[in-house]
Amino acid sequence: MCKAKILIVDDERFFTNLLYDTLKDKYSVNVANNGALALEKIQQEPFDLVLLDILMPGIDGYEVCRQIKLLEQGDKIAVIFLSVKSEVEDELAGFKLGAVDYITKPISLPIVLARVATQVALIHAQEQLRQHSVNLELLVSKRTMELNREMTKKQKAYEKLHYLANYDQLTQLPNRNLFNERLAYAYKLAKRNNTQFALLLIDLDRFKRVNDSLGHAFGDLLLEQVGVRLSARLRGVDTIARLGGDEFTVILTEMTKKHDAAIVAEKILESLTEAFEIEGHVIYIGASIGIASYPEDGEDFNCMLKNADLAMYEVKEKGKNAYTFFSTELTAYAQRRMELDKDLRFALRNQELCLHYQPIVDLNNNTICGVEALLRWQSPKYQHIDIEEIISIAEESDLILEVGEWVLETACQQLQQWQQQGLGSLHIAINMSTRQFCNKVDSSALLARLIKQYQIPAEALQLEITESLMLEDVPFTVDMLQRLKQLGVAFSVDDFGTGYSSLGYLRRFPVDILKIDKSFIQYLLLDSGNAALVKAIIAMAQCLGLRVIAEGVETKSQLDFVQRQGCDMAQGYYFSKPVSAQDIELLVQNKVGILT
Ligand code: C2E
Ligand code: CA
Ligand code: CA
Repeated sequence: MCKAKILIVDDERFFTNLLYDTLKDKYSVNVANNGALALEKIQQEPFDLVLLDILMPGIDGYEVCRQIKLLEQGDKIAVIFLSVKSEVEDELAGFKLGAVDYITKPISLPIVLARVATQVALIHAQEQLRQHSVNLELLVSKRTMELNREMTKKQKAYEKLHYLANYDQLTQLPNRNLFNERLAYAYKLAKRNNTQFALLLIDLDRFKRVNDSLGHAFGDLLLEQVGVRLSARLRGVDTIARLGGDEFTVILTEMTKKHDAAIVAEKILESLTEAFEIEGHVIYIGASIGIASYPEDGEDFNCMLKNADLAMYEVKEKGKNAYTFFSTELTAYAQRRMELDKDLRFALRNQELCLHYQPIVDLNNNTICGVEALLRWQSPKYQHIDIEEIISIAEESDLILEVGEWVLETACQQLQQWQQQGLGSLHIAINMSTRQFCNKVDSSALLARLIKQYQIPAEALQLEITESLMLEDVPFTVDMLQRLKQLGVAFSVDDFGTGYSSLGYLRRFPVDILKIDKSFIQYLLLDSGNAALVKAIIAMAQCLGLRVIAEGVETKSQLDFVQRQGCDMAQGYYFSKPVSAQDIELLVQNKVGILT
């Protein structure tokens, strides 16, 4: 701590000298012999304490004190009067002017020292107090700032959390959470005001395929754009939400008639069927929309959601890219499909599935050269099962991948058995779903494993693919087909002629065989157009070096016709229906006639 600064003001030099000598060791002391000089010195440098005589020529001590107290820092300067004036009034006058002490002359030096020491200690204490309070203020203001910052951070984190909990990160649309909240609110409002509202459930068509073949990142970009288009088409009062995956929903409030929902559905369809251009790809999707409206289709909100879902399901079934309102008849239909899906999952794990095989006959020598594996479900629950319907249900989800893998493995196992039984020349044709060529499964790795595990020649495997797979012409698919081809497996195009008519893909894809669709064969002799087409297909295949199978041959005359055109193989009820593996053995070994 530095020494306190003291100014002694007195006109008697003897007195000032005496005081100076007494105080100089402990304090930094200065002297003024009149009031004017004292004021001048005080203005030049700050003093902590002034020992002030009252009776002086010129400006007296009282006046000096008064002027000191008028200075900016004046109240910080402690004044002790030293005077011969010893009346109480004199002392009081001094204190009134702001003095801290009053010592009457003649003085006792120890008393002066003690009183000065007391005042100096007080001054130090005050200074410390002031410092503390300045520090405290600083600390408080710093902490307040920190707190404010923390609060803003917390507020922001809370807002972010709220956003994350209620909005879909990809499309920035409300998510299921917020949707539930809004739907509950729509209910409340409609009940209170006796109004209607509708719920539109939108599922994108072909999205899975885009996602599977071009990758998730690409799928995400597409979903984003869908979100933008939907938002652009709807009014601000309506809620559009993304429920997850490729499922969106709209709550239409303030509706006056049911038809309003149809208009909105049409608008949505229109906007989603327009081409999407993403990273150089032109993508066409579309949507299936199911509509449920309040009050008819749902007393409570789960029921309404379920009904909209059923309606949407119906659209998917009937060929997609359309909308439909929920109706009670729908329920039975959709519920049957949902139940079949559930039961099929069970069947897969409980050995209720099996494969039947339909002979494929080589028309050059009339022998069975191969078989087509066809899925069968021996269900204790269902009497009649349409396997095409079952496949289409499985294709709605990843269930088809499991079913497909099961079919491949079972067929390979069967082929191994046949090889061991000396039926080595038989090939097996296996139906492949388009989904088995997406990037979720690596069918080439799977087949490589099966070929090794069952020690079967890859050449004996023929994978039946559809034209639609090739039309997509996705690099990933082409690549997978090439890898499969390298393993040695052959490809045939199933139901040829029913898909799209571009034939360019036949050269780009490693195809070996065309299977003319059975509808052409069936009407072959009734419709000359079909006959001409079958002729043309066979001729074209020959030019391209492809072999041809006629499917669904049921009569001798159909067989004769295709044989005359140079068709390589045929398959159909004329030869045999699909039969069990044991029956194939008997047929091949010629133990029974080929006609059943
Ligand atoms: P597909 O690949 O065109 O199979 C031929 C279908 O025609 C079979 O029906 C077969 O029983 C039937 N068929 C055979 N010959 C004749 C005939 O002379 N006349 C008539 N009218 N029909 C004949 P199925 O077994 O009911 O299979 C239906 C469809 O289900 C198949 O059509 C195929 O697309 C699909 N499928 C069957 N098994 C599988 C499978 O393991 N995997 C996949 N992905 N699809 C399968
Ligand atoms: Ca087939
Ligand atoms: Ca077919």
